[in-house]
Amino acid sequence: MRRDAEPWYREGLRFECIRCGRCCSVQGIVWISPEDCRRIAEFLGVSQDLLIREYLLECEYGFLIRERMDMGCVMLDGDRCTIYPARPLQCRSYPFWPEILRSRESWLSEASRCPGIDRGRLWSFREIRERMLR
Ligand code: SF4
Ligand code: SF4
Repeated sequence: MRRDAEPWYREGLRFECIRCGRCCSVQGIVWISPEDCRRIAEFLGVSQDLLIREYLLECEYGFLIRERMDMGCVMLDGDRCTIYPARPLQCRSYPFWPEILRSRESWLSEASRCPGIDRGRLWSFREIRERMLR
């Protein structure tokens, strides 16, 4: 592979979630896969039917987490995710999303929304790719 064809984050990136809840308090779509659904229901100790009925919405393309009246995620309590150990893969892979990793500029732009970006431990290129592909 030519060196200039490699991603700009080849040497890794710093990220550490400080669990401020900021990314969970804004309007957004969180998709729930069947595996997410199974894991979250098990974590909460409820049936998948109850989880779907109380916390999820079904649309043409699958399931997503409901939003509160103020647009925050329904799983958020204060600034804490109540299902953090079992949170959806979409949440786990943040901020290593293709659109955020598109360029150094988009990464830094996202840092204005997420205080965990560019701080804390260094994630290697391999770890980032693994997170992205999960
Ligand atoms: S905004 Fe960043 S630091 Fe805050 S909870 Fe979300 S991922 Fe973690
Ligand atoms: S599931 Fe948890 S981590 Fe994901 S958006 Fe909701 S509160 Fe945030």
